[in-house]
Amino acid sequence: MTAGPSVTHIEPRVPPPAFGRRDPDARGYFGPYGGRFVPETLVAPVAALEDAYLEARRDPAFTASLTAALRDYVGRPTPLYEAGRLGETFGLRVFLKREDLAHTGAHKINNALGQALLAKRMGKSRIVAETGAGQHGVATATACAWLGLACVVYMGVDDMARQALNVVRMRLLGAEVRAVDAGSRTLKDAINEAMRDWVATVADTHYLLGSVLGPHPYPLMVREFQSVIGEEARAQVVAVTGGLPAAVVASVGGGSNALGLFDAFVADADVRLVGVEAGGEAIVPGRHAARMAGGHVGVLHGTRTLLLQDDHGNVLPTHSVSAGLDYPAIGPEHAWLAEQGRAEYVHVGDAEALEAFQQLGRLEGLLPALESAHAVAALRALSGSLSQGAAVIVGLSGRGDKDVASVERLLAATAGSPGAEDQNVAHR
Ligand SMILES: *Cc1c(COP(=O)(O)O)cnc(C)c1O
Repeated sequence: MTAGPSVTHIEPRVPPPAFGRRDPDARGYFGPYGGRFVPETLVAPVAALEDAYLEARRDPAFTASLTAALRDYVGRPTPLYEAGRLGETFGLRVFLKREDLAHTGAHKINNALGQALLAKRMGKSRIVAETGAGQHGVATATACAWLGLACVVYMGVDDMARQALNVVRMRLLGAEVRAVDAGSRTLKDAINEAMRDWVATVADTHYLLGSVLGPHPYPLMVREFQSVIGEEARAQVVAVTGGLPAAVVASVGGGSNALGLFDAFVADADVRLVGVEAGGEAIVPGRHAARMAGGHVGVLHGTRTLLLQDDHGNVLPTHSVSAGLDYPAIGPEHAWLAEQGRAEYVHVGDAEALEAFQQLGRLEGLLPALESAHAVAALRALSGSLSQGAAVIVGLSGRGDKDVASVERLLAATAGSPGAEDQNVAHR
């Protein structure tokens, strides 16, 4: 018998979130965007939340409990994986930041755990949240089960039908899912209902918002809880390539996975930051969710930002094959980064995202969330303006299990008649 290979056990190191790196002004503005537009009853509670958050992020004990949870419960650090076969097709070195491997299958758990820990610290016993596709609801229900907090998740009835599996998951995790049958019966209306609940229950309840949206301090707080993505990715890419990447690319719904990844690179002027919005079917009112392409300044859900609206300021309906990107407003800090020319924004349509979903499966054995597939799809256009062999980090924000059924439906529809693909297989 020979001795086994010598193994050095290395404790995975989770960097602390980048607290206090780029704060908005004292009123919560990033340039002209952001702020705090809330009803009278929420003025004091939102200010109390800000105070509690600013105090918590200075407390080493809070940071220590959060990083321990991110390591032992979420499974961080997530890998930075070089997708060699994918990169070859574009003449680039493509690195995927694997948030799909985080517990519950997406980046949303980073923020849900952070806010749930803060709520507990504030003495709250109950959490309300909104969810669109159900990913944020599942992450929130998970964090609540972990900390023993009561959990109510508001979800549009149309989304409940489309994402039935996530409704089951939330209920199994002990959350109560409340159907919202108002307006477009999707995410926008679920946020309205969650805010309404919070107004009435704020003494014992925390509103756990899922993206870099809402009144200050939410856009700051959510970005900072997600900043662990970029902190890890920056150290990982430097370790592998010896330098910084030429570009960092991520999908943008509200914009939390993108800001979490971008944050570590904002000060590096040579690193391009590319946000990818949902181009849907076409850049025509109602058929997309590309706020940078068709949005105007307005206020929605407590923040001033770019918003898809008509001439009278009514919020327009949106469309995307990906529920997580299907929202009429963008996080205020994205509007500010765009205005300063620091970040650039492109849009990718349903068909291109579907193509990238399949490409990643065939070339790399990875089925990404349809949101993440938008970021992968942007590589084709981006490769034209990058030098051969340039390193690019793509945020793989989540895994695609939740989307497999809708992808099957969409592929069958594009093949002409429903079930056409299956028939081909049967005849072979
Ligand atoms: C929710 C979600 C998104 C979009 O939300 P952001 O706040 O823009 O990150 C992107 N990818 C996945 C996998 C999601 O679940």
